Amino acid sequence: MDLRDLYQEVIVDHNRDPRNFRRLEQPTHKLEGFNPLCGDRLTVYLQLDGGVITDLAFEGSGCAISVASASLMTEALKGKPVTTAEALFTQVHDSLTGVSESGPDGKLAVLTGVRAYPSRIKCATLAWHTLNSALHGGHEPVKTE
Ligand code: ZN
Repeated sequence: MDLRDLYQEVIVDHNRDPRNFRRLEQPTHKLEGFNPLCGDRLTVYLQLDGGVITDLAFEGSGCAISVASASLMTEALKGKPVTTAEALFTQVHDSLTGVSESGPDGKLAVLTGVRAYPSRIKCATLAWHTLNSALHGGHEPVKTE
């Protein structure tokens, strides 16, 4: 199975059945993200406890890539330290924007497949930018432009 098939399969799966697609009632952090280019709108919720993301969820609506990327992000980072989230954000961002040739390992590697569709890159980075801003105390909704 080549990366493009895997990419299709994972995106379709996570769009059809997004993981952690719910609202947290009392999150320590909550932030909205908006990609005007495509109309994707997400809210990211997280529960931080002693530098660890003990819970991570999202709600909203958007294209398959934005929803799948958010779903993969919550799956990868739930229960992980903030430092891991920051490192993965940099990896995903740099590989999608072409700063870096290498990308994240494992299932997240499929996100680099979005590079083949330049107009969709902001769809894929939306949830990540939103989480990163929330982790750094941002309160203004994140816009990809
Ligand atoms: Zn989109």
